[in-house]
Amino acid sequence: MSATILEEFFIKRSQQKRKTSPLNYKERLFILTEEKLAYYDYDLERGRRKSLRGSVDLQKVKCVEMVQPEPNAPQERLYPFQVIYDDGPLYIFAKNGDIQSAWIRKLKEMVRFNKDLKQKYHPCFWVDGQWRCCQQEVKQAMGCKVLEGTDTRKGKSHTCMKPLPPTPVESSPPEPPEPVASVGMTVIAEYEYTPMTSHDLELRRDEEYTILEMSDLNWWRARDKYGKEGYIPSNYVIEAGNVLERFPWYCKNMNRSQAENLLKKENKDGGFLVRDSSRPGIYTVSLFCKISGDKAGGCRHYNICTTSQGQFYLADRHFYSTIPDLINYHQHNAAGMFSRLKHIVSNRAQPPSTAGLGYGIWEIDPRHLTFIKELGNGQFGVVKYGKWQGQHDVAIKMIKEGSMSEDDFIEEAKIMMKLRHENLVQLYGVCTTQRPIYIVTEFLSNGCLLTYLKEGLKQHPTKIQLLEMCKDVAEGMAYLESSQYLHRDLAARNCLVDSNGTVKVTDFGLSRYVLDDEYTSSEGSKFPVRWSPPEVLLYRKFSSKSDIWAYGILMWEVYTLGMLPYEHLNNQEIVDKLSRGFRLYRPQLADERVYGIMTSCWIEKSDERPTFKELSHNVQDLLYEIQ
Ligand code: ADP
Ligand code: MG
Repeated sequence: MSATILEEFFIKRSQQKRKTSPLNYKERLFILTEEKLAYYDYDLERGRRKSLRGSVDLQKVKCVEMVQPEPNAPQERLYPFQVIYDDGPLYIFAKNGDIQSAWIRKLKEMVRFNKDLKQKYHPCFWVDGQWRCCQQEVKQAMGCKVLEGTDTRKGKSHTCMKPLPPTPVESSPPEPPEPVASVGMTVIAEYEYTPMTSHDLELRRDEEYTILEMSDLNWWRARDKYGKEGYIPSNYVIEAGNVLERFPWYCKNMNRSQAENLLKKENKDGGFLVRDSSRPGIYTVSLFCKISGDKAGGCRHYNICTTSQGQFYLADRHFYSTIPDLINYHQHNAAGMFSRLKHIVSNRAQPPSTAGLGYGIWEIDPRHLTFIKELGNGQFGVVKYGKWQGQHDVAIKMIKEGSMSEDDFIEEAKIMMKLRHENLVQLYGVCTTQRPIYIVTEFLSNGCLLTYLKEGLKQHPTKIQLLEMCKDVAEGMAYLESSQYLHRDLAARNCLVDSNGTVKVTDFGLSRYVLDDEYTSSEGSKFPVRWSPPEVLLYRKFSSKSDIWAYGILMWEVYTLGMLPYEHLNNQEIVDKLSRGFRLYRPQLADERVYGIMTSCWIEKSDERPTFKELSHNVQDLLYEIQ
């Protein structure tokens, strides 16, 4: 947590994010830090702050200004001010004019470099669907009063504290449109790719290619600079305009825990990388330092800030017009950071998985597989780790004869192959010309999530780590949901963990091909009763909402570090208790907000449960707050 800059009791008006939410005024303890304005419940008797009720990210603030008190306002609401950000104005009432102006002054000073600062504002309140100053009925309507100091240099002595106008236009310029991938565009290879079939084209890192055809989402046809044509994995290239990806220190799609794992593994003082922050559109520098006396060393994370003129800076105010220039500067100067950026740490050594082993390949020649060691035993038999063509890591499920309805599965495998997401275990292909048939997938070196939770975490996991695991699963599942694909057996045992600690969902849809009554019948001993909602247990009604229920149970497994749900109940007792409204308790490691997400998955009426898209947003929001 950063140091407190200001702290004060204020009355806060409810934000009425929904039309139906009531208008009320509550006393809260407000704490201003370098990053946030947060407000808390307060226990007066014990003189202690209680739970966090909300917070505003200072980078998102667009304006801080006084508000005219309402006519006949009570004494405690005579000194209001407003903090405007994405969610609209936050109205705060100070006890007196001094406190009111001190806070406005400080807040203005702290946000003066923000992007998109407003130059007009509403001097009166938004009440009952209307701005009291201008009677406009749209909450987002542009302000009706120009901020003092924006258009003239006159004004009271404190106008110099007003935000400087970033540009002389009234609203901020539109964001440049997202680049749309299209045939004819030039891309740059981010990874080497060795052709796996004669249809494929070799990729050499940093070289340019022209895209000729994009009818398959995962495999694009491309031409290299010598005129050679063939298929390439679409996730190995980036559009030529995207500059950051060309720098070895940029690790796209890496979260905080993964960055920490990687930096600790390298164990170099001044090791660093740049990644996407959990806040969209912002980049973070993660730096590893060996502080004297601390053998283990620690990680620090610095957001790259932007001035209103679009310049970038880090800990100190050295401004650069591009991120690479800024990084280059800090490679030579610590300038406010814990250390200068000494060693680039990169995850580029490991290329991502491709959707299949070469374009159009889903039948794999078993002679190209070598078996290295046994990984475990599952529903369909033995699973082995091995290599494909002597160099690519793969996991091979050897399907015990009679355990799977093979023909149906083989048909389905063609569809499954097309599902590609960084939080789904990639299906590479099948060997069906012999018995037993094999299912060949991506190999994840940290194995099954359930075992990882119970034994694999070397230290006690942090709150961020646990939530990031849940986020990984929610994102993989949100992708399946958007492809209208049901998992039907989501649980920690059906997730795997890779060498960076990323969690990926596996075995989606597979349960439909199991030939084992103990597993498929809801009365069977292997049926996942503990992961099933009442409507499945009572009427066998599977839907995306039964996957949601299972996700809540999986979160519970994560937060109990792999305990068995309803440990002391048998299947019949579970069914009885669930229909009487009984639910799993809150695990010690889960706070109320995390438990709130779990319980939203266990709402009796299935259509009132959230979607995976909503769940991943909720988890993401919590992550913002704790980072
Ligand atoms: P099934 O789903 O057929 O019952 P599992 O997928 O659970 O079998 O596999 C059994 C064990 O093999 C797992 O618990 C895990 O430890 C290991 N395993 C399975 N697939 C992989 C993989 N892709 N990478 C690494 N380990 C794996
Ligand atoms: Mg499994």
